[in-house]
Amino acid sequence: MTLNILFAARPDSWAEYQGPLTRALSDTGHTFDLRTDFAPEDVDYIVYAPNGPPRDFSPFTRLRAVLSLWAGVETVVGNSTLTVPLTRMVDFGLRQGMTEWVTGHVLRHHLGMDAHINGVPGLWHQNPPPLSRDRRVTILGLGQLGVACGNMLDALGFPVAGWSRSPKQVPGITTHHGPDGLETALARSDILVLLLPNTPSTENTLNTRTLSLLPRGAVVINPGRGTLIDDDALLAALDSGQVGHATLDVFRVEPLPDGHPYWTHPSVTVTPHIASETRPDSSSDVIAENIRRCESGEPLLHLVDRSKGY
Ligand code: NAP
Repeated sequence: MTLNILFAARPDSWAEYQGPLTRALSDTGHTFDLRTDFAPEDVDYIVYAPNGPPRDFSPFTRLRAVLSLWAGVETVVGNSTLTVPLTRMVDFGLRQGMTEWVTGHVLRHHLGMDAHINGVPGLWHQNPPPLSRDRRVTILGLGQLGVACGNMLDALGFPVAGWSRSPKQVPGITTHHGPDGLETALARSDILVLLLPNTPSTENTLNTRTLSLLPRGAVVINPGRGTLIDDDALLAALDSGQVGHATLDVFRVEPLPDGHPYWTHPSVTVTPHIASETRPDSSSDVIAENIRRCESGEPLLHLVDRSKGY
């Protein structure tokens, strides 16, 4: 039987994905037809980017699974018309990209690169950075990406702590969980990295109260989701010096609207949601493996837990 696989992501990404997906699907041994359009009732699998159509899955009467190309699935996880399994993207490319981006921005702030690179002629103000062992980094979210970033920062010598919903043991990372654990984790965060998903329970994780628990002058780095931060509270904390700098890759509204105070705040760095992109080669392997598993009745990888929302 031919498997009909609908590629439902940005039309301009089809050219990038068609080759890698075809290669990876060919390795499954199944006969398939991979296209950007089908009659809904003929579709077996949807390779999905959650910012695009379809929004109503009910016409897809023989659908077996929806396979997201994104790690964050907040825009589709609560869709009541989606009754088949939903998987999210976990792969080498996303992990490696996020590890490189987070490590780069942690090192920028740790080393004080801005001050030292943009030197003023004649000003010879020597303020060497401490060693990494004297800079505490905390990662909120100890999932696929948080642990990968934590491992790299630990290897560089930073004392790394992390926070998650459930208890965890991760070599090289001091772990905390639950509401009390958050307070302990924040209190030792010279640099704080947010890698939580967008769910009702993570909204405004950083707010006036929790920002006040950070050591004065702490740096906040957010490649997770914009909803994790109460923006007004962060701006107030930046103005007061409670937060020394914020590097933000994600926002409640994207693109970040013209005129938003983040664009011009002297202590904010804005990057345009580029921390880690899904790469066609490595993600195609994960999609094909899940289709192979589904066809052989094996458990799917990286299933989204609808009750938790991630
Ligand atoms: P993941 O593997 O699902 O990990 C999520 C982590 O957050 C888990 O450790 C989880 O705890 C923790 N968590 C969730 N809800 C919590 C709560 N209420 N309290 C405490 N901890 C909580 O996700 P991931 O693959 O690492 O990705 C994380 C996020 O990164 C994605 O959801 C996405 O929003 C973002 N992202 C951004 C980009 C970008 O380019 N900026 C790229 C990719 C992903 P448990 O371990 O206990 O479940």
